[in-house]
Amino acid sequence: MKETKKTGLYIHIPFCVKKCNYCAFLSFPAEESPRAEYTDALISEIRMRSAGHDRIRLDTVYIGGGTPSVLDVSQLSRIIKAVREYYDVDPDAEITLEANPGTLGRKDAVTRAKLTAYRSMGINRLSMGVQSMDNDRLHFMGRVHTPGDVVRDIRLAREAGFDNINLDLIFSVPGETTEDAASDARKIIELGPEHISCYSLQMEEGTPFYEWAESGRITEVPDEEDRETYHRICGFLKEAGYEHYEISNFALSGRKSQHNSLYWNMDDYIGCGLGASGFVDGTRYRNTPDLEEYISYYSILFDDEKCEDGGMAPYEEVHRNTPFDNISEAVFTGLRRVEGVTYEEALRAYGSNETGAAASERFWKIFAGSVQEAGAFADRGLLIIDDTGLRLTEDGIDISNGIMALFV
Ligand code: SF4
Repeated sequence: MKETKKTGLYIHIPFCVKKCNYCAFLSFPAEESPRAEYTDALISEIRMRSAGHDRIRLDTVYIGGGTPSVLDVSQLSRIIKAVREYYDVDPDAEITLEANPGTLGRKDAVTRAKLTAYRSMGINRLSMGVQSMDNDRLHFMGRVHTPGDVVRDIRLAREAGFDNINLDLIFSVPGETTEDAASDARKIIELGPEHISCYSLQMEEGTPFYEWAESGRITEVPDEEDRETYHRICGFLKEAGYEHYEISNFALSGRKSQHNSLYWNMDDYIGCGLGASGFVDGTRYRNTPDLEEYISYYSILFDDEKCEDGGMAPYEEVHRNTPFDNISEAVFTGLRRVEGVTYEEALRAYGSNETGAAASERFWKIFAGSVQEAGAFADRGLLIIDDTGLRLTEDGIDISNGIMALFV
């Protein structure tokens, strides 16, 4: 691990109460899940990935899913204990848990106890998949909670001492108007979270929504309306004091997601768990999505004294980045940030330390094939190119993929 880089740990919990109608994430219904075996397997992977290094210092830990809050408190506590045992977790580290509304217990006393236990484990940030504050829309999406659950869970989280909460909002749900989405955004703002993530619903193959769209039962929201809704929501959030710092992310002062920023800054992150991705010392990897294979490999390792990777760990993909991959990813992910990407930081990812005009010249030499098209986007007011770097304009965000593709 490079000294100058930050390092995060992502832990994937692939279980949910039930599958949502739009979801293509790697997750399984919790009642069928081998949660205990998975916890053991996960702990051995957490340990394995710490072996063979000096003790790794972690700036962030993010437990995502799936729905990590479906784990028993004791299972989660064992996982966090293992992280602290095998890594040096910075005392100021951001430690996030995804905790979906409606999964924290139905009785106040139970929810309170769960949230208090999370705080005592050192979890200092909650990310809640609220998605909508409209009961019919939540039901249509297949979510397990109601708007009332959201209000209650946030209240109890505040009482338990959580002062850093993210709420997710999904817009462009089939049948939803811009006005409906705006009303959701307003209600979410009223809940006073420190951070809000807004995503446009995507029809992913293999989901009920995708099938329903194919059969004509539902209709995808047209692009133009989707973009109008996005900008309307951005406007509300900015008015309410949230800084728009990444295409889909908004934060009150000092509350940007430290963990997600690692991804956009090309820092290192270790991924543990089923299907989890990591980027360590210039190598990207993705773990196997096969639950049985994952559990069987790491369960054997659990009893192994040394718990070292014997080169057999089950991956779906491992890729050693070339310098071009690095600069390309630095631009791609950097452009997701509203501040954009500087030539100097992109070149650092490439392995060179040019600064000032030399950096700009070198950058455009590497992307000589894209100069004209980038210029054309700039002329159309979609991309700002200056002496220090490049960034998308508000209109450019609407076609961000097309612009980013120039640098891949
Ligand atoms: S809670 Fe999240 S991960 Fe789980 S099924 Fe729903 S959308 Fe997918």
